[in-house]
Amino acid sequence: MTRAVSIFGATGSIGQNTLDLIRRDPTGYRVVALTGGRNIRQLASDAREFGAEIAVTCYEDCLPALREALAGSGVAVAAGQEALIEAADRPADWTMSAIVGAAGLAPGFHGLRHGRSLALANKESLVTAGPLLMAEARAHGARILPVDSEHSAVFQALVGEDMDAVERVIITASGGALRDWPLERLSQATLADACAHPNWDMGQRITIDSASMFNKALELIETKEFFGISPEKIDTVIHPQSIVHALVGFSDGALMAHLGAPDMRHAIGYALHWPERRALPVERVDLAKLATLEFRAPDTERFPALRLARDVMATGGGAGAVFNAAKEIALDHFIAGDIRFTEMAPLVEDTLDAMSREIRLTDAMDSLETVLMTDHLARVRASELAQARQEQSA
Ligand code: NAD
Ligand code: MG
Repeated sequence: MTRAVSIFGATGSIGQNTLDLIRRDPTGYRVVALTGGRNIRQLASDAREFGAEIAVTCYEDCLPALREALAGSGVAVAAGQEALIEAADRPADWTMSAIVGAAGLAPGFHGLRHGRSLALANKESLVTAGPLLMAEARAHGARILPVDSEHSAVFQALVGEDMDAVERVIITASGGALRDWPLERLSQATLADACAHPNWDMGQRITIDSASMFNKALELIETKEFFGISPEKIDTVIHPQSIVHALVGFSDGALMAHLGAPDMRHAIGYALHWPERRALPVERVDLAKLATLEFRAPDTERFPALRLARDVMATGGGAGAVFNAAKEIALDHFIAGDIRFTEMAPLVEDTLDAMSREIRLTDAMDSLETVLMTDHLARVRASELAQARQEQSA
């Protein structure tokens, strides 16, 4: 049976890995929508290759280039936020949500409204709007399939299990590019330093988030929201080899671990073929060759993002949206060279403090509009705080 699929963020790391799997089964899929940003060459070439119904760039100024690149191909073209939503409203059996950042929330949300499967790589959706997104899925009979490697691992370890028997969930963290740097040198870390991930080949933003452990912070919250597990049962452990992705501990003391090569095509493929398990072109783990798997507790002084994630989980409500928005702004400023690597967490913490004085952070996010408004306010506040920081250090 041919399945209709749409990929949001098709030109990114997750998007390209998804297309790699789809390419291997030419008769298995029909591509509805592919979306991207400024990489028009990639977007157009994929849209042609897969005969997509429509190709969308999120940037209006890129539309002429996209139109030209797809002239005569029969692929419709569009640009901008509304076009992304319209593309998400086109019926598809399976949608990949792989836009980076809170920008991925609205398209994923719309994708759910048609009662389809939403493969969710965009962790920001669950961090900013977890309860809302899960309720929306239930209301429309849609399935959310986790694509973050840790969450796919937990999802797989839970097959056939009773949630009441789950005692704890442990998601592993590689520790990122700066894991072994002396603490006192961290403030000197450059963009290039933070981008040198030891195990995973990913987009730039998540790679830096791995070095700061903001990625793991987001994933702790993602675990709480997706599986409905209380925060005190969720933990993370540094595992430099990135072979064990997550472990689920049960009431009888058993610990079910998920092992696999660090290749996102595993989690993507599991979500693509679910509920079946099909062959995937990923490297097989050779335990004897690996010889050692190490685990150690994360140093909270080195990774303040983890402590912030605990606060966010305890607060609930709008705290996740503020946390994520502030983190995105902090990351923008670090990438631009405006603030130091070690200034990102204090900026996020200050934004949470400032916002908690302006709005009641514990209030539930009752609509997509409320989430987007909270996200917007937090970005404004974080930008002001970043500016103030820069002026101070100048
Ligand atoms: P990436 O930067 O490689 O790709 C991002 C995609 O989103 C691109 O197609 C880009 O054009 C598009 N995009 C960027 N900004 C946009 C905007 N404002 N509006 C619409 N589209 C926009 O990112 P990635 O590494 O593939 O990550 C995608 C998502 O998956 C993120 O949420 C990330 O946290 C998550 N994720 C990624 C990995 C990985 O291995 N890369 C693993 C787990 C989770
Ligand atoms: Mg992950």
